[in-house]
Order: sequence, then structure tokens, then C-alpha cells
Amino acid sequence: TKLVTDVVCPFCGTLCDDLEVVLSDDGKKIVDVNNACAIGAMKFLHSQAEDRLTRPRMRQEDGSWKEASYDEAIEYTAQMLAKAKKPLMYGWSSTNCEAQGVGSEVGELVGAQMDNTATVCHGSTLIAVQDVGVPGCTLGEVKNRADVVVFWGCNPAHAHPRHMSRYSIFPRGFFTAKGHRGRTVVVVDPRPTDTASIANLHLQVEQGRDYELLSALRVAIRGNPLPDVVAGIPKETIIEVAEKMKNARFGVIFFGMGVTHSLSKNHNIDIAIQVTRDLNEYTKFAIMPMRGHYNVTGSGQVWGWQFGYPFCVDLSRGIARYNPGESSSNDLLVRGEVDAVFVLGSDPGAHFPFNSVKKMNDLPCVVVDPHITPSTVVADLHVPVAFVGVEVGGCAYRMDNVPIETHKVVDAPDGMLTDEEFLEGVLKRVKELKGV
Ligand code: SF4
Repeated sequence: TKLVTDVVCPFCGTLCDDLEVVLSDDGKKIVDVNNACAIGAMKFLHSQAEDRLTRPRMRQEDGSWKEASYDEAIEYTAQMLAKAKKPLMYGWSSTNCEAQGVGSEVGELVGAQMDNTATVCHGSTLIAVQDVGVPGCTLGEVKNRADVVVFWGCNPAHAHPRHMSRYSIFPRGFFTAKGHRGRTVVVVDPRPTDTASIANLHLQVEQGRDYELLSALRVAIRGNPLPDVVAGIPKETIIEVAEKMKNARFGVIFFGMGVTHSLSKNHNIDIAIQVTRDLNEYTKFAIMPMRGHYNVTGSGQVWGWQFGYPFCVDLSRGIARYNPGESSSNDLLVRGEVDAVFVLGSDPGAHFPFNSVKKMNDLPCVVVDPHITPSTVVADLHVPVAFVGVEVGGCAYRMDNVPIETHKVVDAPDGMLTDEEFLEGVLKRVKELKGV
């Protein structure tokens, strides 16, 4: 066997870059994956599945699938996008920045609604950061400096399994030589999660009342009086947590969809950022969203520098407009404002509400994905592609906005295109159709 080292895991926003992949003697097959968590390892092993689709397939009148060539798939996609008045181009989080860049060019030419998975995830975080800024840091700083770590509305034990061992709780860093014994871990979650079970303190906040608890923390940090109980938490506990945070050498709040998608949404993040700001009067504190898809952060970066906005970008008027709630995928689908759907690097069929998925089913719909997913079930054209980070490299942004170059480990099956190559083909054909 052969061993490939320093491989980057293309699954979650932790982007672990210490994986080892064991290849067969001829270097063509992945035999095993070392260092990855179970979900990361499966991403590599799934790419080896015997029954994997290696050619596009087109839906027939009777609902069955017929194999198509990549040229036919490019033609169908280009025609669909060029003819549509207002196509939705959604996803972009499980692919590399290079493909995101080409996709943006296509979107600009066809006047698309460009949206990524932040729309159902950390979009409210992006809005809050635009409102009030963000005191951030890198995961390396957390590993080397953090002695107080707060997980608010997130459960990395399940969603980002190696986050705690690589960066936030267990590792020994330059100023954190005692590892987890030198760290205080606080979890705020209405549920007794596996992350909460290893925390020093678990604040079982009442569902949807994070805003009150964050306000109470601000009051406690300033030493002002509190009611006896806030959001189900006794004031003594709130004061204890506030003191631990103020006395940290370096602290960090990681937060997830428990706060971005509960009552108050972006206002929860506004005030969590204000708590972090307040703490910087006393010590060094940072805050970071636990981003899900491995390159959702990158898609916000690419669109940020291309359009000025990180998600919900409306290009239909020839300029970039941004108005989440109006230009977000689910609102557009449910209101019937888009007339074609293109999906790449995400699975809205699994994560969008039923009414949105029904609209995807009714509209012309192309899904680009290496896997068979709930989205491909409602698609008219399914284009399987090479796995980014396994069969093609490219840039991805970790949850702390650090760009990391992913590596190719094995070749894709003969003749398969990458996301970028497929999009290049679509771009070329759309240019011809539009006469530009
Ligand atoms: Fe991959 Fe995330 Fe697991 Fe790291 S924690 S190995 S990036 S799935």
C-alpha cells in the first residue's frame, strides 16, 4: 500500500488537514483513512462505491432516467439557464472556490439569484456581522491560547467531531500546555448533548430564550443586579459564568444553529457579539460561528469579493442586489419568483421545507452532485462530478476564514468532469447563446 499524508478533509468547516489516506499498491483505490472522524472517513470511502454514478442522467417523460453525455448535460443546463427569466443558482458550499468563481460568472451572465447554504444556516450570523462587526480569531489561536471555551447552541461532538480534539478542548498548545485540564468549557443548550456531558458547566437555557440569557450575561459582566432567574438559569450561575469569562486569559464563544435559527435570529448574534465586545474590556475574547459545509465560508468569501455580498445575491437587474428575506432561496421558491433551479454542492431536497422542494420538482431543475440525494430525486438532470478534496484539489475556507488548499488523492473514474470543468463548459455555451 501507499500512504498519502497531510490530506485535507472535505466534509465539515473544521477542514482537518492531518488526514492520512492509505491507497492500494497501484495508487488507484482508497483502502483506508487514518485520523479522520467517522463522517470524514466515509466521504473518502463513499467515493469508492462500486455502484457510483459516473455519467449524467436525464429524466424521461415517464419519470425514468436515461444516461446522457457530459456534452448533452452542458447543453441542457446552458439552455435552461439562458432561457430562464430568473433562475435560482443555489448551493456552492461543498465545492472549491475555483468552481464558485466560474459559477459566479455564469450567474452574472444569466441574471441569476445566487444563494448558498448560509441561507438556512449562518445567514443570520452574516447579517449580524454586517450590522455590528465581529471580534474574531483563528482556530490556531484557540488551540494555543484559549482557557475558557463556550459552545452556544452547537454540538460539535456530533456535527464537527474533531473540533474539540484538534482545536477547542483537548489539544495542548503553546500557552495551553495542560490541554483540557487547563480549560473551562461551558455549554449553553436546551438539550443535554454529548458536548454538554464533557463541559464543566452546562446552562440548560429555556428553548428560544438565548437573547435574554445573553442580555443577562452583559448585565452580570458589568456587575449590575439581575432577577433571580433568567431564561431558566439561576442568577448565581449567570454570575459564575460571567466571572469565569472575565477572568479568562483568552476566551472564545463558538455558536451554532441553536442560536442562528431560534427566536430573535440575527439579534441573538448581535448581542452575542456585544457580550464578546464587553469582555474585551477585561481580557481577550473572540467569537466564531461553527460553519457546517466544508467550504460554505469560501462561497461567502468569493461572492464577497465578486459581488460585495456573501449570500442571497440578486443579479437579475444586471447589478448585485442583496435583501435576505426577499432574495433568499426559500422565499423565492415559495413565492414562485424563479423559473429554473440549478443546484451544486448542496442538498436542498434534504434541508428545505416541503413547499420549496415541491417547487423544485415542478420547475426545470439541474442538480450537480457526486451522490444520489433527495435533491436528485426532484431533478430533471443529474450531473455526477468528481469529489473535491478526494479526486480534485482546490481552495476551501475553514470556519475561521483561513484558506486551505485541498489535495487530490486519487483519480476520478475515467471521463468524469469536475464541478469547475462542468461549469466552464456551461459558461462557454451560455456565452454563445447570449452572443457575448
Ligand atoms: Fe472531516 Fe470535520 Fe471530521 Fe475533521 S471534524 S475529519 S473536517 S468531518
